[in-house]
This record gives sequence, C-alpha cells and structure tokens, in this order.
Amino acid sequence: MKLIYADNAATTRVSKTALDAMLPYFSEEYGNPSSLYTLGQKAAEAMANARKIVAECIGAEEREIYFTSGGSEADNQAIVTAALLGKRKGKMHLISTTFEHHAVLHTLQRLEKEGFEVTYLDVHKDGVVRLEDVEKAIRPDTALVTIMYANNEIGTIQPIREIGALCRSKGILFHTDAVQAIGHIPVNVKDDNIDMLSLSAHKFHGPKGTGVLYCKRGIMLTNIIEGGAQERGKRGGTENVPGIVGTAAALKESCDHMEENAIRTIALRDRLAAGLSKIPHSVINGSMEHHVPGTLNMCFEGIEGESLLLLLDAKHIAASSGSACTSGSLDPSHVLLAIGLPHEVAHGSLRLSITEENTEEEIDYIIKSVTEVVEYLRSMSPVWDELEKGTIKHVI
Ligand SMILES: *Cc1c(COP(=O)(O)O)cnc(C)c1O
Repeated sequence: MKLIYADNAATTRVSKTALDAMLPYFSEEYGNPSSLYTLGQKAAEAMANARKIVAECIGAEEREIYFTSGGSEADNQAIVTAALLGKRKGKMHLISTTFEHHAVLHTLQRLEKEGFEVTYLDVHKDGVVRLEDVEKAIRPDTALVTIMYANNEIGTIQPIREIGALCRSKGILFHTDAVQAIGHIPVNVKDDNIDMLSLSAHKFHGPKGTGVLYCKRGIMLTNIIEGGAQERGKRGGTENVPGIVGTAAALKESCDHMEENAIRTIALRDRLAAGLSKIPHSVINGSMEHHVPGTLNMCFEGIEGESLLLLLDAKHIAASSGSACTSGSLDPSHVLLAIGLPHEVAHGSLRLSITEENTEEEIDYIIKSVTEVVEYLRSMSPVWDELEKGTIKHVI
C-alpha cells in the first residue's frame, strides 16, 4: 500500500520543480561561486538569481538575504546577533514565548548562562500570544523580542505585524521564526515590521539543509560560522549552490500557488478535523481561527501518542505526536503544556500536517484508521477503564 504522508510540518518532499532546478548544480554546473572563471561565475549568477527570488517572495532587498544551513542556524544567528548588539548598550533582557522551537529556546538558554535575562511569555489556551503581554514584558533594557510566526506543533499564527510595530516604536529588535509560515501564508517583512526572520526550505518542498536569514539593512550580523567572504562575510563556507537554487525554486512555486493551495488544503484539513472530532473525548489543540492551512493537532484522552503513531505507521500513515525533536523522549510536548493542557492529556497528542497533494480518499482513510486505533488502544488501557467507570474524571 502507498504511504500516506501527513507529517509535512516535520519535512516535505522536494517538488519536481525544485529538484529539476537543482540537478545541474550537482553535475555540469559544479563551479565554486567564488571562482573567477566562467564555471564559477555561472554558479554565482544562479545564486544571485536565487537571492533575488527569495527577496521578492518575502518583500526584502537582495542584500538583506543570507543563505544558511537551515532554520536552526538562522534562528541561532538572529538571536545571538541581537543579544550581542544589546549587550554593547547594556541591554541584557530578551523576550520570547514558552512555545518556540528548540532552535530558539536552546539559544536563549545558552544566553541566560552568559548573563542575559529572558522573559518567556505564556501562550493562551488558543495558542496565540497576546500583544498586551508583550507590551507588559518590555523593559528599558530589552534588546530583542523573538516570537514565532506560526507554531510548528499546533499551527497557530501569532499577531506578528502588531508585535513588530510595537517593537519598532520602542526601538527593540524583532525576530520571528517564520519556518512554518513561509510558503504557506503571505509574509512580507516590511509590512509585518520584521527586523530578522528565519525560514527553512524543507518545510515548503525545498531541500533539507538550506535556509535563509533575512536581516534588515543596517543591522550588523554576528557570525555563527567564521570563514571566507561568502554571504557578505557573515556566513563563511562554500555556498550550497544546489540547495540555494532549490530553495528559491520551491519558494517561488509555493508563493505563486499559495492561495489555491491554501483553499484546497484547508478544505482537506476541515474534513479531517470534522471526522476526527467524532471520536469521543477528543479535542483540537489551538484555535482554528488564526491557523496555517495544513496542520491539525488533536489529543485523545486515555491513550499514548507514541503507541498511536506506531499503529498508524503499520497502516502506512506517517504522522507525528508533536515536534520531531522531542519524539523519542517520554516528556509530553512543551507546546501542549504551554497552552495549558494537563500532562495526561498532552501525552495523547497527534499532529497531522497535510498539503494540497493529499486527496479526500487519503483523508477518509486517515479518519477511519485513527478512529480504529484510538478505540483499540482505549480497549487495552487500564486508565481508560477507570475513566469509563468514573473512578477518575474525564478532562476532555
Ligand atoms: C523545522 C523548524 C525549524 C528548524 O529548521 P531546520 O531547517 O530543520 O533547521 C525551526 N523552527 C521551526 C518552527 C520549524 O518548524
């Protein structure tokens, strides 16, 4: 049976357009963009063209685009840059949220060890951070606000434009991890008042291991990787030319078809949500009002997410219980705890992330399979037994 892939928030398949664009740069066009002869200059031209495309897609200037090894590196570089710029002015306070990606959270934790103070804002039950909470947390010594555009586990979209405007009015740098937003919903760094933004190609049908840091003109980036003069001296190392070309091709394709893809994906996601909501004692996590098209996160009481995933895998469905980075650990997702779910409920989570390439038949098969597997797991669960007898109370 064909695999039904419903884990596009973890990674996506490289599109044919992106693959075709990349292939020549592995073979005939293998020059080093720093070389002066024609072969090198052809690679440099391809990269310049890619930079132009990426800049256009997010409303930036070409010189504000820095290619990196992915979203994680871009997050690290943006946050470390803002922290060091702040430190020079005696500003050692940073603001973020409790439900960021670990590329952000772990960078902040490292800075805390080096003397920075971080305020982690609570996320409300709907999975959305409040502007007022950001405003209240701002201090005279705040150097940076970093808040993700859309959450990778529950798909909720944050009020980025408003937060950006607030930061700008206070002279505070604003970074957003937009990895789950770019290519899926419209993002414009100028309209959204963003100083620094991270994106990753493999979340929109581009290749793994390539990403972009947008950094507004005038902000002096700190290197994470020292080396040659590549990327205006801000990111050493011979450029990943095929990856960069593939990033631009995938991004352009996603942006060109964004609206039609979103309409189709939302219809599929709503069908999925309606079908799975029929399972008793289930809940959808995060508000569906401010939401990326493809992601649906649900909890089913009385089961373990990991068992659910394994049984779905046996039915050829690839899904996730939350962040790929925490799978393998027994702790429930920090995102689900951040939106206030009790531990025992957060354990029974399932993230399905679909695209326009999924079909209605696939969605119906997922609904049928999840329903069967949840029933089966509950039939074997001592906890479910007690919930049904009433010795412990249902939470959802
Ligand atoms: C995937 C992801 C990242 C990491 O990007 P990589 O390119 O895999 O390093 C960062 N933030 C979010 C929100 C993500 O979903």
